[in-house]
Amino acid sequence: MRDPGFPHRHLLGIEGLTPLEITHLLDLSDRYVELNRGSDKVARVLDGRTIVNLFFENSTRTRTSFELAAKRLGANVINMQVESSSVAKGETLIDTAVTLNAMHPDALCVRHPDSGAVKLLSEKVNCAVVNAGDGSHEHPTQALLDALTIRRRLGRLNGLLVAICGDVLHSRVARSNFYLLLTMGARVRVIAPRTLIPSQLESLGVEVFTDMNEGLKDADIVMMLRVQNERMRGSFIPSVREYFRFFGLDRAKLAQAKPDALIMHPGPMNRGTEIDSDVADDVQRSAIREQVELGVAVRMAVLEVLSKNNAAYKAAVGQS
Ligand code: ASP
Repeated sequence: MRDPGFPHRHLLGIEGLTPLEITHLLDLSDRYVELNRGSDKVARVLDGRTIVNLFFENSTRTRTSFELAAKRLGANVINMQVESSSVAKGETLIDTAVTLNAMHPDALCVRHPDSGAVKLLSEKVNCAVVNAGDGSHEHPTQALLDALTIRRRLGRLNGLLVAICGDVLHSRVARSNFYLLLTMGARVRVIAPRTLIPSQLESLGVEVFTDMNEGLKDADIVMMLRVQNERMRGSFIPSVREYFRFFGLDRAKLAQAKPDALIMHPGPMNRGTEIDSDVADDVQRSAIREQVELGVAVRMAVLEVLSKNNAAYKAAVGQS
């Protein structure tokens, strides 16, 4: 079948993307992994373009990763960290978007604490918008880099059994991964305490477990999630000690998964809460550092494709 490329102007989420579109982005990312491992890390495909990182929420690795990605493509990069006051969130978002848009950026990479905020912003600007994480909704580039990590290690996504463990309720990473992994033909299990499992997960095709030893059985991938204290209103877990005892990944629980199962975590890790250092730092089994590395390549692919699509769109409608 002909590769349709990636025909969208924005990347707001994984939901709705086709297997071919996802594969197109992963294939392009693979090429950037090779470039990033060489000594000359510059591909001048975005020379003269302007990329703005607009972050309404703290971030170290994602923002740095987008910045590095844009710079390696030859673009000019501006970083904006905006404090989002809970009173005027709506105004802040739209005002900032309209102001930035007037400066003709080619792409905005946006993180915001509210689900849906990045989509809203994309409707107010005429450049490409990449969702760098919106509330507990989606984090599409994280799911793409997770998929790339799995594909490079295990050669495929189709047919693999992926166990996603922990604070699924508050996790945009989990949501984007459900969409991507199920679309690509993987089996997805969720393992979490009842209080951290969103309703209606089964209707997506996800298998739900509340016992790590059962849920991890024969898993090819064990993907741990951070306990997102900042998104919790009220008490979702009894205590860190108890959480770790039942849901923290350690050698004993990992032994239920396939002998060569890959350990993943989107970072930042709460060591001793959801993951034991012993398994997180196991160089044979843990792909956590590789996830960070491949994130840059994925963001290069996304920025390249979206910038080109937007240039073509503007040319077609006669905008500059
Ligand atoms: N870095 C990821 C995110 O922004 C995961 C996390 O923070 O737990 O969603």
